[in-house]
Amino acid sequence: HHHIDHATVEKVEVAIKAGHTHAHMPEYESFDSYAAAGGYETLKELRKDGDWEAVQDKVLSSGLRGLGGAGFPSGKKWGFVRANQGPRYMAVNGDEGEPGTFKDRHYLERVPHLFLEGMLIAAWAVEAEKVFIYMRDEYPAVLEILAREIKALENAGIVEAGYIDLRRGAGAYICGEESAMIESIEGKRGLPRHRPPFVAQVGIFGQPTLVHNVETLHWVTRICREGPEVLSGTELNGRKGLRSYSVSGRVAQPGVYLLAAGSTITDVIAAAGGMAEGQVFKAYQPGGPSSGLLPASMDDVPLDFDTLQPHGTFIGSAAVVILSEDDSARAAALNMLRFFEDESCGQCTPCRVGCEKAVKLMQADSWDTGLLEELSSAMVDASICGLGQAAPNPIRMVMKHFADEI
Ligand code: SF4
Repeated sequence: HHHIDHATVEKVEVAIKAGHTHAHMPEYESFDSYAAAGGYETLKELRKDGDWEAVQDKVLSSGLRGLGGAGFPSGKKWGFVRANQGPRYMAVNGDEGEPGTFKDRHYLERVPHLFLEGMLIAAWAVEAEKVFIYMRDEYPAVLEILAREIKALENAGIVEAGYIDLRRGAGAYICGEESAMIESIEGKRGLPRHRPPFVAQVGIFGQPTLVHNVETLHWVTRICREGPEVLSGTELNGRKGLRSYSVSGRVAQPGVYLLAAGSTITDVIAAAGGMAEGQVFKAYQPGGPSSGLLPASMDDVPLDFDTLQPHGTFIGSAAVVILSEDDSARAAALNMLRFFEDESCGQCTPCRVGCEKAVKLMQADSWDTGLLEELSSAMVDASICGLGQAAPNPIRMVMKHFADEI
């Protein structure tokens, strides 16, 4: 159910005619202004006589969890990686391929050094020999900013030349899965690995590897500088912390909104300026296509890690998409499954064949719900990675909440 915005098409055409097809460079905080305001002092002090466990304690008490979607307590990872003999590596997951997610880009195009300093703090904490940044190639401005600012770090003597290796992804959704990303960094096809062993034990080139998302590292710097309260000090609906919601769809002002982690969909829509004119709220995707769709009636659930579990879904990377009465939930779910069919790496049968079969079944005038449910449970039980395991979520949620459409 694609809605083509003619104003946008026109703007793009005008830009192409005018020859403005290069990356639009946003105004961002450069190394000089960041350093002038005390940036990298924390890193320098830690490198001099810092205690990594004290930093880990701070990160743990802030409640920071992995913001790429999995929500694993960030400080704990450091301990797991350090428990293994070096050399150790670090990889930053900047693939941000989850449709509807654009929060990492938001931070990188504004305050890239909060991320870079956090990355170097985490690299110091696990004594990483080298750091790989795996960056989404569809973000040309971000790539240019990072290339420039990494150079500035080298020139300032904060890192040795080559310590930070900036890599470009090639647009495969599956390379956002951490083990597939590691395969890709090693120069191979991005196929997810079986676990165990976990990447904290056997990661890049078989060595223990720390993997963090971009936004997670942005918060590591802020926790070090402002204290754990920067996150733990906010409480709403019994949930602590903050969440960067990427909000799109039928709202008045799509964008990234930093709100309390206990926010409900009502709060998120309000932050985005309310519904777009003439649109009536019908349904929402809470966290990427694999989180499926919830009905507007479920408007009192805090959109945080764990809180959506009783409803058969999750917040993931907090990619919220708002649907209106003009949209079909059934068509949205079909669109999601088509995406998974395209992006399945094809390594395992339940996912490769399952996504294809699901798309066929969902195109029928009326859905064979018994067969779709059987297919869904086979995919959940037998797929190697999260793509195949979560792909049936949109199907199940439409069967449950939007049965009148199928
Ligand atoms: Fe590949 Fe899908 Fe299997 Fe994941 S579940 S390994 S994406 S085929």
